[in-house]
Amino acid sequence: MSLQIAAPGRSVGAMASEPVDPNVPPSGTGCADCTAAGGWWLHLRRCAQCGHVGCCDTSPEQHATAHVRSSGHPVIRSFEPGEDWFFDYRTGDFLDGPPLAPPESHPPSQPVPGPAGRVPPDWEAHLH
Ligand SMILES: [Zn+2]
Ligand SMILES: [Zn+2]
Repeated sequence: MSLQIAAPGRSVGAMASEPVDPNVPPSGTGCADCTAAGGWWLHLRRCAQCGHVGCCDTSPEQHATAHVRSSGHPVIRSFEPGEDWFFDYRTGDFLDGPPLAPPESHPPSQPVPGPAGRVPPDWEAHLH
């Protein structure tokens, strides 16, 4: 995978740097907090500093943003298959960044919303 190719909508010069730790593996394949609470999520985001996997702001519990607030870790990366963008909460900018310790996304077989078996039939009514 080449780092020289910028994704559409992002400039090559905008790189997420501090605080990003490319050596920390993700906390798991699902939202750490939803998994603990028996909940479900729409999309997943990974903390680029400590590897915490949380659910996106469209998800019912918004654990990725909750982690940013509670930890002070300001940079996340998408944990969706095929997505490699970073987001800096301090500036509101979508950025490019380095490859992170694998796996770089949840398994493609994991459904969206997920996880399998915990998504209620009226899940769309719970989104933000
Ligand atoms: Zn969650
Ligand atoms: Zn973190």
